[in-house]
Amino acid sequence: MNLQEKIEDLRKRTLSDLLSVADEKTLNNLRTVMLGKKGELTEILKGMKDLTNEERPVIGALANAFRDEFGAKFEAKKLEIEQAVMNAALESESLDVTLPGKAQKKGSRHILTQTQEEIEEIFLGMGYEIVDGYEVETDHYNFERMNLPKDHPARDMQDTFYITNEVLLRTHTSPMQARTMDAHDFSKGGLRMIAPGRVYRRDTDDATHSHQFHQIEGLVVDKNITMADLKGTLDLVMKKMFGQERELRWRPSYFPFTEPSVEVDISCFKCGGKGCNVCKHTGWIEILGAGMVHPNVLEMSGLDSSVYSGFAFGLGQERIAMLRYGINDIRGFYQGDVRFLEQFD
Ligand SMILES: [Zn+2]
Repeated sequence: MNLQEKIEDLRKRTLSDLLSVADEKTLNNLRTVMLGKKGELTEILKGMKDLTNEERPVIGALANAFRDEFGAKFEAKKLEIEQAVMNAALESESLDVTLPGKAQKKGSRHILTQTQEEIEEIFLGMGYEIVDGYEVETDHYNFERMNLPKDHPARDMQDTFYITNEVLLRTHTSPMQARTMDAHDFSKGGLRMIAPGRVYRRDTDDATHSHQFHQIEGLVVDKNITMADLKGTLDLVMKKMFGQERELRWRPSYFPFTEPSVEVDISCFKCGGKGCNVCKHTGWIEILGAGMVHPNVLEMSGLDSSVYSGFAFGLGQERIAMLRYGINDIRGFYQGDVRFLEQFD
């Protein structure tokens, strides 16, 4: 074979091999083997030194034409392979947008939180401020400032978790009455506040008792506050929570920090007063305790009880939620059973 024939032979083999190449690595390899610095074409062209001056440009032109032809076909093949790779990827990664999605688990607020926020909303609408208190309290605020000195028999009404002789888990949200009065500037006007929060008693847990539960303390102190203000306020709040048809019944009671003190019942929202299991067939449901702030409590906050007066009340979130939703075991609120909690989404 002369050089011309060798180039033609190389060209045919190269273009034929090119047709069957299916991946980029083999393609690049083919170019190196055939046209690279140490490739077959280079080998063939080494024979040019034996050619005449007339023959040399002819072979040179032939080699260049082959390089150009290969170059064009190489680029076309490369594009074809890239396209095939991309198509395969698209095929394997394709999404079926009609498939149903994975449902996301949605959390919800605890029923006690919902109840608390609903009550807060009512009081915010009446211009009350909401204050936070300490769950770890001092004996001073929990008892003494609530008119319960150390030897007071009514301390027995509340079984207390003591941490030290002077520090305890608060047994009620009432210490926030004293704390808020201490901080309030009465020269700028009266005080209207509620204080929601967790409280603790040494109770044995059962369906109706828990060693921890929630209260919302309410307190209004100003000049000329009377029992009529207390009645009007609670009447409005209870009707908002339990329905406009509700009636309130007031019974005398005793709390050390209010005088006079009352227990408030509402007419049964389930039977309307005829008698049912919710109202234990009395037609009335015991709902909260309240009263006029005891003069001693006002005086201990530095207020002149001949000028200032006030009312206070305490609501129980658990009791309200249990009544409204027919929950008959208080432990459901704390056991974290999602089957129970999900009912109140
Ligand atoms: Zn009833």
